[in-house]
Amino acid sequence: MADDLQHDLLIVGGGGAGLRAVIAAADAYPDLAVAMLSKGYPIRSHTLSAEGGPAAVIKENDSLEDHIHDTISGADWLADQDAVEAFVREAPGEMVQLEHWGCPWSREEDGSVAVRPFGGMRIRRTWYAADKTGFHMLHALFQTSLKHTQVTRYDEWFATRLLVEDGRCQGVAAVELRTGVMRVVRAKAVILCTGGGGRVFPFTTNAAIKTGDGMAMAYRAGVALKDMEFVQYHPTGLPGTGILITEAARGEGGILVNTEGRRYLQDYNLGEPLDVSDPSHPQLRTMELGPRDKLSQAFMKEQEAGRVFEGEYGTYTHLDVRHLGERLINERIPFVRELAKDYAGIDPVHAPIPVRPVVHYMMGGIDTDMEGATSLPGLYAAGECACVSINGANRLGSNSLTELLVFGRRAGHAAAVWAQEHPEFDQASLRAQGADEQERIASSYLRPREGGERIAAIRRELNEAMEDGAGVYRDGARLQAATETIAELRGRASHLALDDHSHSFNTELTAALELESLLDVGEAVAHSALARTESRGSHQRTDHPERDDENFLRHSLAYRADGAPRIEYSDVTITSWPPAERTYGS
Ligand SMILES: Cc1cc2nc3c(=O)[nH]c(=O)nc-3n(C[C@H](O)[C@H](O)[C@H](O)COP(=O)(O)OP(=O)(O)OC[C@H]3O[C@@H](n4cnc5c(N)ncnc54)[C@H](O)[C@@H]3O)c2cc1C
Repeated sequence: MADDLQHDLLIVGGGGAGLRAVIAAADAYPDLAVAMLSKGYPIRSHTLSAEGGPAAVIKENDSLEDHIHDTISGADWLADQDAVEAFVREAPGEMVQLEHWGCPWSREEDGSVAVRPFGGMRIRRTWYAADKTGFHMLHALFQTSLKHTQVTRYDEWFATRLLVEDGRCQGVAAVELRTGVMRVVRAKAVILCTGGGGRVFPFTTNAAIKTGDGMAMAYRAGVALKDMEFVQYHPTGLPGTGILITEAARGEGGILVNTEGRRYLQDYNLGEPLDVSDPSHPQLRTMELGPRDKLSQAFMKEQEAGRVFEGEYGTYTHLDVRHLGERLINERIPFVRELAKDYAGIDPVHAPIPVRPVVHYMMGGIDTDMEGATSLPGLYAAGECACVSINGANRLGSNSLTELLVFGRRAGHAAAVWAQEHPEFDQASLRAQGADEQERIASSYLRPREGGERIAAIRRELNEAMEDGAGVYRDGARLQAATETIAELRGRASHLALDDHSHSFNTELTAALELESLLDVGEAVAHSALARTESRGSHQRTDHPERDDENFLRHSLAYRADGAPRIEYSDVTITSWPPAERTYGS
């Protein structure tokens, strides 16, 4: 093993949350030795692909109260209300800060910041930079991080294990992908900002690197994964690739139609067709701008009724934006046009876009408090890999880019303070753990093995088990079957045979390490979903169709164990918004 590396604070993940945490820590403590480690180059993180934008109150017809209420009711009351309040209050300041760092927010004619409507938000409050918002946000953050010269970057390093000693997280073991060498990176505090794990499902908008590695590392270190049963399907992905057609397409006035040419959402108690050009329209959150879980469920009902199209890549309905006209499409949603042309072979100016629900986002994640702290001292988490929780049972679109900023900053601060207060390391033990990890990976994957299982086969079977058992609609029997399949796949995955035993950029090794993460994440999702015998937000059980506040107005906490995980529960924080019925569009 090469020499160890040592820093005060290590941030794992170079997406929006990781970069915001880096800047917060470096700004507040210029003498702090900060490092950022990322398995991909930071500006290739998934944050880049966000199109729609982040939500924050800015207009006079809006209020913090309204944003808080929309978020809590959208979450089907499973969000912690103190966290939501802090989030909504701090959001506008973060947006202005990002502009000062160079993010080119789109403007209204009068020069004020433009906002667009988004699903489940009663008032327009989603800031945007055309439909390349994530690209601009990530670049503004990245270039700002460069001015902090005390930040060391480890790009294309794959973290595989948290190093824990004296009950404290003190760094990570990571493979330097260019050389294949296992390195120990010691740090007084670690923040996981490793993003989501949508790749556990077959149809997803998530980039190939979103395999839940950080969630899995925390889970293996004994930290709970919270509310993992809540998986968001986005109603409009392209069949085949899963590529996202942003909600902005509906925000700008796109409509969903079935094989009969009917705007079918009107059959699901969704109110009248609306005029979205009127921001005060009381039904702005209904129909196509309803929350994502409801729209995805409506698609499944249409499918059952046989009113969906059949194509080469499965079933779909139509998203029609033709009535918006070429000028508006080019101005507001140019990327939608580009994607539809390149990946569906149609020009949305002249033809409707084929779409289907695809897995988009994980509401659950590493259990943290409002400062990003986990139950493991010295370990923090922020961004999509964390569960604070503000998203509860269903995230409202455009809240998560904001979440990266607000909670990335909070975690960066808190972890920096912790690092300063806890200076000591146990170097020998951390080194030994790194050597163990090196041997585990070498013996599992890098030495020739006769026979053995194939990575792709196990990944495909895992994907199918997740879609069959833990898809848009679930029931006990199918979830039980999914948990059994995952247990069997776990056993088989311990006998993988790799063809590539080389060291430099061994992508087969990376895929094997990612499969370990996918199995951990899949296990936590399926078991948490099986244990929650109610329907709430994105978790719809056909055998338990009602919401059950008496037993389940609680967060689930999945702890890794030998065999099935242990599922415990914790209370939801309610401040001023008592649970109420979630009507469509709320
Ligand atoms: C297509 C798409 C569009 C979206 N649009 C919107 C939108 O309009 N509005 C909105 O609010 N939200 C949107 N979202 C959601 C939002 O973009 C994501 O939740 C958010 O960007 C996640 O940011 P993050 O910083 O947590 O993680 P990411 O941006 O995914 O970054 C994760 C980082 O962790 C690193 N990493 C992961 N594993 C390891 C490992 N083992 N070792 C080292 N490094 C590791 C990666 O290299 C990467 O740098 C969208 C999501 C998708 C997929």
